[in-house]
Amino acid sequence: MQIIETVAGVKEQVAAWKAAGLTIGLVPTMGALHEGHESLMEAARAACDKVVVSVFVNPLQFGPDEDYDAYPRDIARDGAVCAAHGVDAVFHPTPEEMYGPAFNTYVVMEALTDALCGASRPGHFRGVCTVVTKLFNIVQPDFAFFGQKDAQQLAIIKRMVADLNMNLKVVGCPIVREEDGLAKSSRNAYLSPDERQAALVLSRAVRAGEAAVRAGERDAAAVKRQMSAIIEADPLARIDYVEVVDGATMQPVNTLGRSVLAALAVYIGSTRLIDNFIYEEGE
Ligand code: AMP
Repeated sequence: MQIIETVAGVKEQVAAWKAAGLTIGLVPTMGALHEGHESLMEAARAACDKVVVSVFVNPLQFGPDEDYDAYPRDIARDGAVCAAHGVDAVFHPTPEEMYGPAFNTYVVMEALTDALCGASRPGHFRGVCTVVTKLFNIVQPDFAFFGQKDAQQLAIIKRMVADLNMNLKVVGCPIVREEDGLAKSSRNAYLSPDERQAALVLSRAVRAGEAAVRAGERDAAAVKRQMSAIIEADPLARIDYVEVVDGATMQPVNTLGRSVLAALAVYIGSTRLIDNFIYEEGE
């Protein structure tokens, strides 16, 4: 397996694969790989002839007061994880390789990015859409794999691919959790033992909200209250947002319909974690 650091290097490899008639799957990540990322690699492996994992901590999607500098980076370990999962190439560019000094073009989505993480992280999805567009143009994958863990991101990428007629299929993959329910995240590494325990309020709130919706609760505010109460009970947890929105539009609704996304972001100490559930009537 190769670790490729240049755009030209990836393009050359991809061109050779395409000339041989092979299909390509892309798994975009920021590294610090865990079982959530590994599930995406496995899905890509099953669907495509060649799998490319990108490992790039994208400066464009971090706010000025966020954890860009502190974000865990260990390309040697990430490379080994990718190799163990049959990945064919890792694309690991420097920020300078992705954003030269004259860089000046951004991909900006409108309504879908207003709510949830878009509201609390201004500019975040502009950074995500821009880097993902670049990765799609560089790797030219037939399929790209994203986790449901970042539900809003997945919806935004699907919308962007449809709106801009990008020539690939976006595949969403289920949330992978620790045994006790905490959604796997590279940021879990920031948690102290006490905080790790407190972080269970996220998955507990998600489970309670889901149970209420499945039991027939259709009042969005009531579901939100139940979820918030669980988080507020823990002194180490501070709510960034708890929202119960329409699954298709990501806009707030009073009465829940056929598709529901309940999403939350919670600070555990200074670490911001997210979790969600999606309910589709009839599933
Ligand atoms: P990140 O490295 O955090 O940017 O995540 C890269 C990809 O892995 C995104 O598509 C995430 O949604 C996905 N991902 C991260 N954590 C999980 C998880 N626990 N389960 C499933 N997918 C995940």
